[in-house]
Amino acid sequence: MPILCMAVDCGNRATFQWQRRPTDAELVPIIAMAEAWRAEMIATNPENPPRLPPLPDATNITVPVYACAEHEIDMDLACHTHQATCTAPNPANLPGCDCDPEPLPPPDPQD
Ligand SMILES: [Zn+2]
Ligand SMILES: [Zn+2]
Repeated sequence: MPILCMAVDCGNRATFQWQRRPTDAELVPIIAMAEAWRAEMIATNPENPPRLPPLPDATNITVPVYACAEHEIDMDLACHTHQATCTAPNPANLPGCDCDPEPLPPPDPQD
């Protein structure tokens, strides 16, 4: 199944993607899946459980946002992680959005 643009009433195939923080409602199934995975990992070796990454929360994961060519946001904005409250791709704000995106992470020292 193709991934579709997330703008309201748009059904076009998505060609553009950026990231935003998950909402509380989106986090519930994500955390449930992570907890199930952790329980499974620990069950495979209860004597010596593997080191596991921290559970996902609203600060360490993002969810993808998809848009078609008509509803994409500015390329510079798309480099940032947006707030959970961001409504982009909302045609009212394009090519901008209505949140204050997070600053870009510092450049990788290996670059
Ligand atoms: Zn669209
Ligand atoms: Zn935004």
